[in-house]
Amino acid sequence: MKLWNAILLTLFLYLGGIVFSGLIHHNVMWYLIPGTTLWAAIDSSKIQLKRYRSGVGPVAFFVLCSLLWIIGFPWYLWMRHKILTGHAELITNDPRCVSCDELINPELKVCPKCGWTQP
Ligand SMILES: [Zn+2]
Repeated sequence: MKLWNAILLTLFLYLGGIVFSGLIHHNVMWYLIPGTTLWAAIDSSKIQLKRYRSGVGPVAFFVLCSLLWIIGFPWYLWMRHKILTGHAELITNDPRCVSCDELINPELKVCPKCGWTQP
């Protein structure tokens, strides 16, 4: 899901929730927001959101998204789309060159890009 689609879907859910709450005289937002947040938190642990850049763990995500659902939920849908389509950047523990910050093979002592000898 593209970022704009994610924002539109979130607004649609939000406005739909408000309209529906008015129709049945009962505030369904009390279930809608925690429900979608819980789904996203569980789903984020399945797709291992933590392994990606700007990703967070499911518990941290649940807290953040509960506080700022209108931003957190579309952000999650957008990140999820990037992860599932292979466009998200993985956090890597591979060593980087101390001089030029290029990812390098840990067995190499000399950086292939800038020629710096690693400590
Ligand atoms: Zn280098």
